Amino acid sequence: MLDTGLRILIVASEVAPFAKTGGLADVAGSLPKALAVQGNDVRVVLPRYRSVGECSTVADFPVQVGDRKETCIVRSSRIEAKSPQGPREVPVYFVDNYHYFDRERLYGYVDDAERFAFFNLAVVSLCEAVGFRPDVVHVNDWQTGFIPLLLRIRGRHVASWKETASVFTVHNLQYQGRFPKDTLRLFGLGDEYFTPGGVEFYGDVSFMKAGLLFADVISTVSETYAREIQTPEFGEGLDGVLRKRGGDLYGIVNGINYHEYDPASDPRVFKTYDSKDLSGKFENKLALQRELGLTLSHEPLVGMVSRLVDQKGLDILLEAMPDILSRPLQFVLLGTGDERYEEAFRRVAQSHPGKVSVTIGFNGILAQRIYAGSDIFLMPSRFEPCGLGQLIAMRYGSIPVARKTGGIADTVSDFDDSTGTGTGFLFERYSSGDLVAAIDRALEKYTDRETWMQIVRQAMESDFSWNKSAALYTELYLEALARRGRIERPA
Ligand code: ADP
Repeated sequence: MLDTGLRILIVASEVAPFAKTGGLADVAGSLPKALAVQGNDVRVVLPRYRSVGECSTVADFPVQVGDRKETCIVRSSRIEAKSPQGPREVPVYFVDNYHYFDRERLYGYVDDAERFAFFNLAVVSLCEAVGFRPDVVHVNDWQTGFIPLLLRIRGRHVASWKETASVFTVHNLQYQGRFPKDTLRLFGLGDEYFTPGGVEFYGDVSFMKAGLLFADVISTVSETYAREIQTPEFGEGLDGVLRKRGGDLYGIVNGINYHEYDPASDPRVFKTYDSKDLSGKFENKLALQRELGLTLSHEPLVGMVSRLVDQKGLDILLEAMPDILSRPLQFVLLGTGDERYEEAFRRVAQSHPGKVSVTIGFNGILAQRIYAGSDIFLMPSRFEPCGLGQLIAMRYGSIPVARKTGGIADTVSDFDDSTGTGTGFLFERYSSGDLVAAIDRALEKYTDRETWMQIVRQAMESDFSWNKSAALYTELYLEALARRGRIERPA
């Protein structure tokens, strides 16, 4: 049996506040804090990209990547978690290699397979170099997919690694890390792994599939998405693998960090407020209108902060745009992604000055001002593993109009006129018409001030802090340890 706290290593390709392109970074930055507050020894590993500032050097060692001998320099920093018992520190380790990671962006390079093979290969040695022997290694998304297999292989030679359990979490099944067959050589792995029952995927090597096959337990970021990805519609070609591992697949909804995302203390917003006194929220709306050059108006302000990619439902949104903009509202978008969407939304803004504002780029401060200043938050996603946008929006009293899929279905409850319950307006069919209908339902309620304020309060007071989800992750870790034979658990 283990003593109280677990030693947990969380590995991810992005971790807020050091490097972020999406929700994964939020999760990898906030889950460790919640686990640390609950008494575990948690440490985090990510690559050291150019965007990561100064940090100290703690170790270095060679890593064999195919026939290249590369050096991993381990740097370190820490994130601090607030807790009622005082602050807790989470050590953060960076895998540094000038050749692989001193670049402008995080991903999207021709040698991504080699970059992340190096990262995967470095992680186990890093633990040895810094003297941390985790009970559980929790890896996330394709960029970490080979680590569970590498752990198993190391366990054949070093007995103590045999006891280390691995957990693989899918944050988005669409991005799979699929590369040519010779990628296996980077890991020093032979053809015996290149089979349909192994990491072969339609003639390529799949990092994602490696994670799904070799981790002791797997999870994804909502219960609904855990069910969805076992179907051909959402399975991205891996639904068969997921069904096969269905008994080891869990869904745990993400939380958000309630200290960082708190309208009552957020330094990024114009005026702080809470659910008891919403006057500050209205001031945020006016200040946002001013900042973005919109007409100062009481009309409902519809906000959206999103990666501009197919997943986010932008085709139906663009199709619905003429209808939406014929309604008495303002529309504010912050996002970056596919050029065709960036262009299309830029054009919408140009033809509707004063009513529509579109900012192309990644801007954490403006994002918070949109959550705080908007009345309605739009998320017409085609699929959504968990979605953090709707959670942050609800916390800031911006009411989601969103498609009922994945984590949105698990976190937003549709407003019900007969009972007055609900925290948003959901639509099910993926169509522009159903999106407009959901917006119209929200607009109608918006004119009924008393009901709208009640919905805002219900949204703001719903609890998506990490407490519950971090406890569920601890359960998951114990389950993984049981699979390793480290502990016994009731069936
Ligand atoms: P995904 O991970 O698919 O991008 P999520 O809803 O899970 O979507 O998480 C998105 C996170 O990234 C949220 O914290 C959101 O506020 C943030 N975000 C997305 N786009 C931008 C942007 N252009 N500028 C600032 N923050 C953004």
